[in-house]
Amino acid sequence: MSANLLEDALSRITRFAKQAKITQEVIDSLMQPKATMTASLPVRMDNGSTCYFPGFRCHYNNKLGPTKGGIRFHPDVSIEEVQALALWMTIKCAVMDLPFGGGKGGIIVDPKKLSPMELERLSRAYVRAMADFIGPQTDIPAPDVYTNARIMGWMMDEYEAIKRVKAPGVITGKPVRLGGSLGRDDATGRGAYLCTLALARKQKLKPQDTTVAIQGFGNGGYHAAHLLQKAGFRIVAISDSQGGIYSPQGFDVDSIYEEKQRNRKVKAVYCNASVCEQVDHDVITNEELLELDVDILIPAALEGVITKHNAKKIQARHLVEIANGPVEADADVILEEQGCIVVPDVLANAGGVTVSYFEWVQNRQGYSWDADTVQDQLSQRMEKAFEDIWEQAQQHQTNLRAAAYILALKRLGEAVEAHGTRN
Ligand code: GLU
Repeated sequence: MSANLLEDALSRITRFAKQAKITQEVIDSLMQPKATMTASLPVRMDNGSTCYFPGFRCHYNNKLGPTKGGIRFHPDVSIEEVQALALWMTIKCAVMDLPFGGGKGGIIVDPKKLSPMELERLSRAYVRAMADFIGPQTDIPAPDVYTNARIMGWMMDEYEAIKRVKAPGVITGKPVRLGGSLGRDDATGRGAYLCTLALARKQKLKPQDTTVAIQGFGNGGYHAAHLLQKAGFRIVAISDSQGGIYSPQGFDVDSIYEEKQRNRKVKAVYCNASVCEQVDHDVITNEELLELDVDILIPAALEGVITKHNAKKIQARHLVEIANGPVEADADVILEEQGCIVVPDVLANAGGVTVSYFEWVQNRQGYSWDADTVQDQLSQRMEKAFEDIWEQAQQHQTNLRAAAYILALKRLGEAVEAHGTRN
């Protein structure tokens, strides 16, 4: 991973700003976050001691609307990472034409080491520290790596207790009973699936002849794998943080998922007799998975897994980024020279924030949509964004990442100019 993720993220802004023909004033306004809050979160542990966990929340840019973005619980969280992720949210919301700016939050913690009660106390401590920094009209958190609907429910409850109002619109990705949207749980995977279908159409790939490798089997990776398999694609490799499995014949995604729920490890799955009988497979590392000769590679874990050091070894002809920032900026050119078409994170994983937007709209309306409406609206938005970016790429003779940034930067530029000068 690059020494400074934020610098890496900023290098793409400067690189693509020229092509987007936006003014220096707009570029300058995007070169640093608007505000970042840091807090030490005290948590009473089950054994009676108190531990302090560092927590962050960044408002990167709010020219297009209230800042929006998830909260990550991970031992490798840092302030720079949160800021880089918040910058990517700014671009992502602009790409999807959502009335949101970009934000992000994180806590340095290994959630697997906490009991459920400790996890709840930590989630509530985060909201106590950030209660005046978030809000339905200012900054709206959501799930990210190792956070989920249950955690969002605790956070909303804490916010409402502090503010003494009902405020479901303060957070998205909540349990449906607390005002969450139907279809939010699989939205990131579904958005990536829709992008993959659109890409396959453009590239004339037939699902039954198309092999797919997926790195990461969390919320995004699993749902994308499940939907792609249902559409006929052959899922030949799957991994989680511990490693993965590969079989040219392809796997049954759902039986691996069920087994992972029991074993907690993908690579252990096929050692379990009940699933292993049918398929001959190899146990592989995460690095090996990335280098497989497949038609579509889907990095769906963490950032910075494809760098200038391993980019030459990537054999896949297409890459669909479900993770945020899986390819470092330096590796973009190498992949392009190899003829690899990359559907960038700011489009490919935008299904999550798009359905978060629908959730926020439903909370404001006080009216819930049915699952078909959510899916229809998501398909329309993803297909439109994909087409817009494809067209921009043709027009500017450039790759899809550049095209997505050009589109986003133009929209941000228009908003900055329309706001006028306040100082
Ligand atoms: N964490 C997700 C992302 O990176 C979703 C953010 C949201 O729904 O606000 O896009």
